[in-house]
Amino acid sequence: MSFTSLGLLPELQQTLHHLDYRQPTLVQQQAIPAILAGRDLLASAATGSGKTAAFALPLLQRLAGQHERAALILVPTRELAEQVADACTAYARNLDLACVAVYGGVPLAEQVETLSDGCDLLVATPGRLLDLLANEILDLSAIDHVVLDEADRLLALGFARELATIGEQLPDHCQRLLFSATFPPAIRRLAQDWLRQPLEISATPHNRPAPKIKQWVVPVDKKRKPGLLLFMLRDRGWRQALIFVKSRKGADDLVTYLRGKELAADALHGERDQETRREVLAAFRERRVDLLVATDVAARGLDIDDLPLVINFDLPLAAEDYVHRIGRSGRAGASGTAVSLVCADEAPQLAAIERLLQRRLSREEEPGFEPRHELPQAAPVKPGKPTKTADFHGRPAAAGKTPGHPGGIKRARPGPAARPGAPGNKLTGRTTTGGRPRGR
Ligand code: AMP
Repeated sequence: MSFTSLGLLPELQQTLHHLDYRQPTLVQQQAIPAILAGRDLLASAATGSGKTAAFALPLLQRLAGQHERAALILVPTRELAEQVADACTAYARNLDLACVAVYGGVPLAEQVETLSDGCDLLVATPGRLLDLLANEILDLSAIDHVVLDEADRLLALGFARELATIGEQLPDHCQRLLFSATFPPAIRRLAQDWLRQPLEISATPHNRPAPKIKQWVVPVDKKRKPGLLLFMLRDRGWRQALIFVKSRKGADDLVTYLRGKELAADALHGERDQETRREVLAAFRERRVDLLVATDVAARGLDIDDLPLVINFDLPLAAEDYVHRIGRSGRAGASGTAVSLVCADEAPQLAAIERLLQRRLSREEEPGFEPRHELPQAAPVKPGKPTKTADFHGRPAAAGKTPGHPGGIKRARPGPAARPGAPGNKLTGRTTTGGRPRGR
């Protein structure tokens, strides 16, 4: 299938040619015509599936020439906000449409300035969007389309209440699109609240990572993980890798260890400021840093192409994060490798991951690093059995009933901030002050 047959504008097709996108990915093949036709959408698509273009291209087409109207894309992290905004800007190069990203961690005033000319596509993290709404810098009355991007992650990061508040302020007629890599019960409930007779599409089999990623587990004692990592990097000649750890301290400690072995490593975690994180990422992309040691939150939404190797130095607390992590390799059909160093303490997390994947991961001990504390086998994995996974903090997923969730998003009215007569009547930046940024 070609992009031409999807009914995209010549201006967009030209851009795709320029970007050397030759064929639509699976999610693009299914999502683009449905979004152009105005359908709500529930899409199962992992990072790397081409999901950003799947919603951005048709939304840009629908907004072209509609300067009164706008689209809102809600994302879990600032990195993803920047990445999606960059992609949208690239896709919009032949159209007279502007895309802006707003997110916490930078002064509100800076973003008020960026917004002062208004925009057609607004990419936002929920906390910062609420700050802007509360300060009456934005209103959502001109929004015709809204996307929840990486919805599972939005919930895992505790944004359910923010989403409900934002949902109440969106115009009733809004087209709503929900993209998620995984479909735990909380996502199903969110979809029921947000979407109207959505078309369901699946670009990856439910709850399974994109194909072509070779994954295995190396059982090892906790204390010997750094030594094993070093051994595997050297023994297998692995040069570039994204290494996941569970804590900021863990990231810093591992970077110190690797640097002590004369490896070019750096850390990406929430305690590092935005500018430093950008620099670290640029260094990794340009191969001045070979080993990027990251926590889940910091690594969310990184757009690093052709990453051959993801190493789980620690398993994630939430099984869904495993899928997100290993989605960093094997992007857009490339093959990748994901290896997890797992100690006996992590057996419950491994069991949750295997339940989510509905299969066992193969275990391969490294000679010389055989564990003294055995990694227990989980109960047999039963395909098709509903999965119950831990959430971001290791609580059972039933906690998807997020505390304080008001019980469903009402779409029936424009919110109090909506101002049909607002200047330009699209996402207008009005520089009012007051209120307190919540800093998300
Ligand atoms: P995403 O899943 O949106 O994060 O996209 C993953 C990567 O695939 C990005 O680097 C995109 O630029 C790239 N990509 C998206 N769609 C295509 C396509 N149809 N052909 C080639 N590359 C693509």
